[in-house]
Amino acid sequence: MANVPKLSDPQSELLDKVDVFIFDCDGVIWRGDSLIDGIAETLERLRKAGKKMFFVTNNSTKSRAGYKKKFDGLGLTDVPAEEIFSSSFAAAAYLEQSNFPTDGSKKVYVIGEVGIGEELDLIGIPHLGGPADNDKVANMGSGGRLEVDPDVGAVIVGFDRDVNYYKIQYAQLCINEGDAEFIATNLDAVTHLTDAQEWAGNGSMVGAIRGCTGQEPTVVGKPSPLMIEYLESKYGMDRSRICMVGDRLDTDVLFGTDNGLKSLLVLSGVTSEEKLLSPDNSITPDFYADDINAFFASETATV
Ligand SMILES: [Mg+2]
Repeated sequence: MANVPKLSDPQSELLDKVDVFIFDCDGVIWRGDSLIDGIAETLERLRKAGKKMFFVTNNSTKSRAGYKKKFDGLGLTDVPAEEIFSSSFAAAAYLEQSNFPTDGSKKVYVIGEVGIGEELDLIGIPHLGGPADNDKVANMGSGGRLEVDPDVGAVIVGFDRDVNYYKIQYAQLCINEGDAEFIATNLDAVTHLTDAQEWAGNGSMVGAIRGCTGQEPTVVGKPSPLMIEYLESKYGMDRSRICMVGDRLDTDVLFGTDNGLKSLLVLSGVTSEEKLLSPDNSITPDFYADDINAFFASETATV
């Protein structure tokens, strides 16, 4: 059995030792489009206790501004866009940190939805592809070619419900013939588009480009260290006082354990207690809890 303690004294075990909480969103803050009960009050208490918070999602279909609207719509109006780290933002931040030109001399080809383009717009990097190529079909008749922009310096691959052969061929040419860098927002195998079943995640779009280029992408979302490096350089945070809170072992908890953070798994999402404690599970958070309302549970219990 994997040995993971259930959070029992949140003040001494967690709150006294952590200055910064990084929350995964789906399965922690909300499920699909519904806020998990009690979350607004718990976040408010953490904020009053002086804790810094960040909200991280591997879903690249929205930009930070798009997620801000989702937080607002769920009544979490205290969360500013700067506290939101979508993998669409991570891709743009990665380009910025790796000195990708912002003078327009290099462009990005996007497989993905509106979120990635919106983030690139904010840092002045021109982009093509994305939703604009949803209906395009390459000339595949005799002698047919697809001409690509020679200034494409990077291809970003994010979740795209309108992925098609034109986009795959465009990306293939940019990477194989044009030397563009291959960047993936995340590698999630499956995602929860609806609550009725699991759906093919961005791992499938990335797999298509991997398959035709033979290259491995630079991954910017969880569990890659890029987000934590960004937080460290921007805010000078001490890793040992940061706690990653999520509902998935292979992305959230791994992101914490790989990067020297504390980690806590909540059972309010995709991972069951049985799976967490199974002898087959080798990914072990510092603690687990039913949901983040447990951070203040002992107080409520004694009232
Ligand atoms: Mg989640």
